Amino acid sequence: MAKIVIIGAGIVGLSTARAARQKGHEVTILEQGPVPNPQSASFDNHRLIRYPYAAAAGYTRMVTEAFAAWERVWRDIGAVHFESTGAIAISLEPGDYADKTRATFREIGLPHEEHDRAGIETLCPHLTLPQGAWGVSASPGGPLFANRIVTDLVKWLTAHGVTIEANTRVTRVDEASGTAWVEDGSSRTGDLLLIAAGAWLPHLMPEKFSDLYVYRQALLYVDPPKQYEESWRKAPAIVVIGQQGGYTLPDLQGAGLKFGYSPHRRRILPGDGGFASDFASESKFIFDSFRPWLNDADAYRPQRMQVGYYILDPSRRFRFEKTGRALVVTNCDGQMFKFGPLVGERIIGMFEGHETMDSLAHWAAGY
Ligand SMILES: Cc1cc2nc3c(=O)[nH]c(=O)nc-3n(C[C@H](O)[C@H](O)[C@H](O)COP(=O)(O)OP(=O)(O)OC[C@H]3O[C@@H](n4cnc5c(N)ncnc54)[C@H](O)[C@@H]3O)c2cc1C
Repeated sequence: MAKIVIIGAGIVGLSTARAARQKGHEVTILEQGPVPNPQSASFDNHRLIRYPYAAAAGYTRMVTEAFAAWERVWRDIGAVHFESTGAIAISLEPGDYADKTRATFREIGLPHEEHDRAGIETLCPHLTLPQGAWGVSASPGGPLFANRIVTDLVKWLTAHGVTIEANTRVTRVDEASGTAWVEDGSSRTGDLLLIAAGAWLPHLMPEKFSDLYVYRQALLYVDPPKQYEESWRKAPAIVVIGQQGGYTLPDLQGAGLKFGYSPHRRRILPGDGGFASDFASESKFIFDSFRPWLNDADAYRPQRMQVGYYILDPSRRFRFEKTGRALVVTNCDGQMFKFGPLVGERIIGMFEGHETMDSLAHWAAGY
């Protein structure tokens, strides 16, 4: 039995803790806030899991493995916090995200459906699309109910003897020895020290990671007009429309209909950007990006914003780096929630010698 110390109780830290505990290791999680932490990237009503990934064939393939890992989570926690609506990418011009997705699906032989404009508008009667629009969808896909997942993982870990130290901020690490020092001056040392600190990594290890691309992103919860409430629930989650960078998550299990718009992100650290939002201007900016494609757009009612932070590298590749006994997981982008349980299992597999660190890092980078 080895000692595993984990910094951060987001989906990466919690999932790795679960995988480690299942292999009989002694696990301690150190979290600067409450557990789960509502300010972590892993905390929101839902996060999307979907196959459409443009030209990124590696990540597309990884989604199948991710679903298998989620099945193992549902078995352990005794609940399924996922609903499959399928996920659709909508093309407006040659070479856009959906077009690349279709090419990838064809290349790797992933089962999918292609829809013409009328077909999409039948599936999604709330949308109105330009001439020539078409879509590509794949199932399963849809909302992972993130808050419930992290809450149930914490319950499982507690029941299985994992030590969770909430409100315990790590101030310094020594990678060679696998040691983390916390605010009261005490330290915890692991045979493996997993550093899964999300957007706070540059703050924890400024000498190595001050140049990472940390972004604030805010998502909009919105009430649709009555006549479209049901269709928004049943329709596939939208991954993208053209190159617009907007995506949607359905109001299933009371989670609320949510709109996201990639260009809304802003490069700033959590300590500087905070978690408040300017509701009027931010909700308008996000909503206006969807407005051209919505029937009865004026009848939508913006409800609230959810602010989160992630590190998004221009390469769009996850970065796993091991030095001494410490393994840093970073560049989790707006993408890691879906892969959390799978990543946790692979990290512990690497620690136990089932693969090399090089192969783990290569796989995580989506090659
Ligand atoms: C707005 C938004 C939308 C997203 N949409 C999707 C999506 O649809 N699908 C998807 O798959 N992914 C999505 N993501 C990405 C996904 O949510 C993140 O990549 C994932 O949750 C990251 O998990 P994590 O455990 O690495 O980090 P986090 O969940 O941020 O957890 C890190 C934890 O470390 C703690 N910590 C930091 N520093 C210290 C310290 N010094 N001492 C102790 N504790 C510390 C923090 O308090 C935090 O709780 C989205 C992210 C955001 C922000």
